[in-house]
Amino acid sequence: MNIHEYQAKQLFRQFQIPVPDGAQATLAEQAKTIAIDLDGAAWVVKAQVHAGGRGKAGGVKLAKSIAEVTEFTADLLGKRLVTQQTDALGLPIDAVLVEKTYPIKRELYLSLVLDRGSERLIFIASAAGGMDIETVAHETPEKILTVPVHPAAGLQGYQCRNVAYALGLHGTQHKALATIMHGMYNLFLAKDASQIEINPLIETDSGELMALDAKINFDDNAIALHPDILAMKDPAQEDDKENEAQQFGLNYITLDGNIGCMVNGAGLAMATMDLVKLKGGLPANFLDVGGGTTVEKVCEAFKLILADGNVKAVLVNIFGGIVKCDVIAQGILEAIKQIHVAVPVVVRLEGTNVEEGKALLKDTGLNLYAADDLAHAAEQVVALAKE
Ligand code: GDP
Ligand code: MN
Repeated sequence: MNIHEYQAKQLFRQFQIPVPDGAQATLAEQAKTIAIDLDGAAWVVKAQVHAGGRGKAGGVKLAKSIAEVTEFTADLLGKRLVTQQTDALGLPIDAVLVEKTYPIKRELYLSLVLDRGSERLIFIASAAGGMDIETVAHETPEKILTVPVHPAAGLQGYQCRNVAYALGLHGTQHKALATIMHGMYNLFLAKDASQIEINPLIETDSGELMALDAKINFDDNAIALHPDILAMKDPAQEDDKENEAQQFGLNYITLDGNIGCMVNGAGLAMATMDLVKLKGGLPANFLDVGGGTTVEKVCEAFKLILADGNVKAVLVNIFGGIVKCDVIAQGILEAIKQIHVAVPVVVRLEGTNVEEGKALLKDTGLNLYAADDLAHAAEQVVALAKE
């Protein structure tokens, strides 16, 4: 799960990681009041969306007057921001963060992520932080230091010092950096994060260190343990169809292709997608309707798939173990009754009550194709999608 920068900075404050003074606003008037209260000479207005690359996309604006704070806020709110990290539609800007600006001497990079390979949390640090860290990682990887932390030993003083040297920090700054690194490490463990990124971590003209940006991802498998984090969820920043699917207990992920897939079981869904690809097609989604499926759930799943305008054909692949094939067939027919289905649907059913299921789908006069085996079904749906 993702949260906004302003929420991440609230967590940073709780864990002693210094951040600029500021607050979020959902109205231009509010932004104005915040800026006046901040009592500075310049402010930064930052679009709050769940994506990086805002700086380059015009989502981070430097205001030199209160009037500009109001103007930039009014300008950003209600728009969508398209960055390198979003799709072509971008994400809605429903809030901005208004902060005091600080004189920046250097922009550094510091993050903490779970490295599955080494089974450690690792700090990643670079003196070449800022908006082009991806280029640095790509072209000059030697400018990036990684420090794995042993889970039993925890973060050690010497590790913080190594990072401080790599970042070119001097004496008194070492302690400040250690506080930030311990804050990140404690926050990561306490809230079951999967990534914490500070880019840029700035050094101000007076030598202070401060997190100018804040990005935190959380482990979805642990989110139920953290109601405070779950409360920060912003559905407006997420895929509409994925939100809807969650409500019906469906496991749905939007993909780029044009073949809608409805499958029961994550493993079978993967195998189905693989086979569709093998036969030269591209899946439009991953959808696992789960084990104890009902007619209503199948119906919702079908609507979800067909709400995607890219879908040119649908493949239903069900292995009836716990779920019964006739229930699936009823769900399909119910969905077709409720919504107009203009695309062909290939159905492969196998398992419990398969004969009853197939009988229900036979001679319906609808655009339905029954397939006996999966390979044949995949071939058929790929051919139909191309027509
Ligand atoms: P991102 O592009 O989405 O990662 O957004 P950031 O929060 O990292 O902002 C992008 C860039 O804007 C930073 O690298 C800074 O150069 C600049 N920036 C952000 N906040 C401030 C600020 O308070 N003062 C100044 N001078 N620059 C800022
Ligand atoms: Mn950034």
